[in-house]
Amino acid sequence: MRARRPATGQAYRDGRGAFRPSEERVVPGAGIREARTVRVDACVIGTGAGGAPVAKELAEGGMTVAMLEEGERFTAEDFNGRPREMTAVLYRDAGQIATLGNVPILLPLGRTVGGTTTVNSGTCFRTPAAVLDTWREDFGLEELTAAALDPYFRRVERILNVTQVPPDIAGRNALVVKRGADALGWSGDFVFRNVRGCVGSGICNFGCPTSAKQHTGVTYVPRAWEAGATTYSGCRAERIEMSGGRARAVEARTSGGGLLRVECDAVVVACGAIHTPLLLRAQGLGTGSGQLGRNLAIHPATAVRALFDERIDMARGVPQSYYIDEFAGEGIMLEGAAGPPDYAAMSFPFTGEHHRELMLRYPHISQFGLMVSDASRGYVTRRAGALAIRYDLNREDVATFRRGIELLCELYWAAGAEAVYPPVAGVPELRAGNMEPLRRADLRASQLTVMAFHPLGTARADARADRGVVDARLKLHDAENVYVSDASAVPSSIGVNPQITVMALATRLAYRLLGKAAPEDEPQPETMAQPRVVVHR
Ligand SMILES: Cc1cc2nc3c(=O)[nH]c(=O)nc-3n(C[C@H](O)[C@H](O)[C@H](O)COP(=O)(O)OP(=O)(O)OC[C@H]3O[C@@H](n4cnc5c(N)ncnc54)[C@H](O)[C@@H]3O)c2cc1C
Ligand code: SF4
Repeated sequence: MRARRPATGQAYRDGRGAFRPSEERVVPGAGIREARTVRVDACVIGTGAGGAPVAKELAEGGMTVAMLEEGERFTAEDFNGRPREMTAVLYRDAGQIATLGNVPILLPLGRTVGGTTTVNSGTCFRTPAAVLDTWREDFGLEELTAAALDPYFRRVERILNVTQVPPDIAGRNALVVKRGADALGWSGDFVFRNVRGCVGSGICNFGCPTSAKQHTGVTYVPRAWEAGATTYSGCRAERIEMSGGRARAVEARTSGGGLLRVECDAVVVACGAIHTPLLLRAQGLGTGSGQLGRNLAIHPATAVRALFDERIDMARGVPQSYYIDEFAGEGIMLEGAAGPPDYAAMSFPFTGEHHRELMLRYPHISQFGLMVSDASRGYVTRRAGALAIRYDLNREDVATFRRGIELLCELYWAAGAEAVYPPVAGVPELRAGNMEPLRRADLRASQLTVMAFHPLGTARADARADRGVVDARLKLHDAENVYVSDASAVPSSIGVNPQITVMALATRLAYRLLGKAAPEDEPQPETMAQPRVVVHR
């Protein structure tokens, strides 16, 4: 494909430093009630961490680009800070997607322009070098070294303004946890995040009301518009038309009941790790290796709560502002997970009078999360037309959860907690440093309260066509001009939050499609998070 159109327009940065394009090139699907055809160089399906960067880079490189997004577009003016209302509009199925298996696991996904980045916590970790080593050994991805990816990470980090949380907006929740970690001598630090002018309002997961969070809907998507790309919101891609082994067009059902046909030279599928395999399978694409939809890693998570006599007020400060990587070598990352009272009310795993009592003491409650780099794997499929995600937590991961929960309890005792609440059915609240009820429990998966935020791997990259769905360039092994640029291509659990891994791979894909070498002039960050992730096999 040739670069052929320069970027134009009068874009500016507003007072907060947010990028404002000269024209908002978004066409709501609600207004498309008929059959309409557009013609572009590249059609990108999805506007989250994987789709938006590739669209922006391709458009800036001179290609004509259409972005199809099933969700609607919302702006900071629409974000009212009320979790229940925002969850209903920004998340797919109001945030109620869950896995089937030996423990039901809530797996929320964003569905809006910006994808899940609109509702995520903003934590940024590069792919750990130890993980890249395993990609080389296990998946033949020789090209994906830390050095080769460095220019793409730098570019992503500059565009997103990845910076470390200053302690004054980290929130009491993080500071109390840091106190416990420091007392125990555990390694940790304030998180690096994609923000500009964050004021610590505590509701990142429900739409940042100030646009401080630099999600793709306020960064990459408007920059793509500035370079001439168009977003079609409320348009669900349902068909990729193939002929002679090449994609010719994508057809999308619009929320207005119409049909949008995008004729193109290349298709980039970026629907996320749950929906990309479904779309590909419906076309019979990506099926050659038998791996499509399989190898689902989710980085399962839980949270421990604790009661303090001091005031914590989890509603103030950055919700996910501190991490502890002391146990990353065991597959355990401890990361903040605070939130406002209505979020806490929804997520506390208690009922009745106990729930009511705890909510009355909400200002004195602290909550911290733990994520397990999973050895378990699941799969995504359709049953009777409906999405089904099967995932069983294996014994090894249950044991890692036990270890992580015990560590968090220990940390809370070191921080001076009065009571600690492990997320384990049948284990009562713990008092006075007593861990016995937890240690005695014959822990099974079904007793745990688990959520997951990082689905990966369902269209995994592998250099060998019989082992993976896409190659190291993210091209489908079995089609000439169809690419996967999202979390589904990430071949294994990476032990840290994945958004900038997905974005760096997306940027690299765009550079390859444009025939460009890696950027050479991106500034080196002064510091960056370097968690001690080790991979055990
Ligand atoms: C609550 C929460 C907090 C998180 N916090 C962090 C964090 O702090 N740091 C981090 O690194 N990661 C975090 N994540 C995960 C991170 O946001 C995801 O890993 C990342 O966004 C995945 O990118 P993606 O492109 O694969 O999918 P998404 O960002 O989900 O984008 C996929 C898009 O495709 C659209 N789509 C799907 N199907 C179609 C179709 N057929 N047609 C058109 N459009 C379609 C969807 O509507 C969606 O907008 C969090 C996730 C959640 C849920
Ligand atoms: S803490 Fe508030 S201001 Fe900062 S990114 Fe989150 S929602 Fe936006």
